Amino acid sequence: KSFVSGSGKGAVRYQVLKDVDLNIQRGEFFILLGPSGCGKSTLLNLIAGFEKQTEGELLVDGQTIDRPGKERAMVFQHPDASLFPWLNVRENIEFGLRMQGVSRGERKAVSDRYIELAGLTGHERKFPRELSGGMKQRVQIARVLANDPELLLMDEPLGALDAFTRRIMQDELVRIWTETKKTVIFVTHDIQEAVLLGGRIGIMSIGPDSRVFEIMDNRLEYPRDITSREFNLMQ
Ligand code: ATP
Ligand code: MG
Repeated sequence: KSFVSGSGKGAVRYQVLKDVDLNIQRGEFFILLGPSGCGKSTLLNLIAGFEKQTEGELLVDGQTIDRPGKERAMVFQHPDASLFPWLNVRENIEFGLRMQGVSRGERKAVSDRYIELAGLTGHERKFPRELSGGMKQRVQIARVLANDPELLLMDEPLGALDAFTRRIMQDELVRIWTETKKTVIFVTHDIQEAVLLGGRIGIMSIGPDSRVFEIMDNRLEYPRDITSREFNLMQ
C-alpha cells in the first residue's frame, strides 16, 4: 500500500506496507505490535475492506477482499466513532440485527447474551453519554459480537482508556475471547500490553516497505497470575 503525501508538483508517493503475509489461525488471538506510523491501522483497514491496496491482491481465508463484509468487524479506539448516541446500550447492540430484519424476540436473545458476556448487565437502558470509556468499549465489543463476525479487527481498542480501566479491560478481552473463540487481530503499540495479552505477536517494522518482520509465540509464557479457569481454557 502506498500513499501520496503533499499535492501538485511536490507530491511524493511513499510505500507504507509491502509484501505482508500473515498466517493467522482460526480462533486465534493475534497481536500486531509496532511503533506509531508503521502501518498497523493501514493493514487493518485493508483487511476490513475500508481501504484498497495500491498493488497486488489481498486474500483473507482464500477470498479476495475489496470491500467491507459482515464477516469482518472493526472495533475502533474511540467508541464515539461507532456508537449511536441516540440509542441506548441494548439498542446499540441490536442495531445491526435490526437492519437485517431479525425479529424482536431473536434480537433480544442475542443482545441478552452479549450484554452478559461483555459485563453490561444493569446498564442496558443507559445511553453512551452516561457510560465511562471502558463501558463504552464493552458496548462496542458486544455490538460487534452480536453481528457474529468471523474476524474481529481491534485497532488499539484500549488506547484511549486510563491505566486502571485499561488493565481491567485487558483481562476482560482475554475472557471474552476465551468464551467466544473468535479470531482476533489486536493492534497495539504498547509492548507491555502485547506481552500481557499472551497471544502470538507479529512485530511490524517502521519505514518505507514496513512489514511484519517477526512473529513471537507468546502463548505459553503468560506473564501474570493465571486463574485455574483461564488456564483450563488455554489448554
Ligand atoms: P498509530 O500507532 O499512530 O495508530 P499506525 O501504525 O496505525 O500508527 P498508520 O495509520 O497505518 O500507522 O499509518 C502508516 C503511515 O501511513 C503513516 O506514515 C501515515 O502518515 C501514513 N498514512 C496513513 N493513512 C494515510 C492517508 N490516508 N494518506 C496519506 N498517508 C497516510
Ligand atoms: Mg493506528
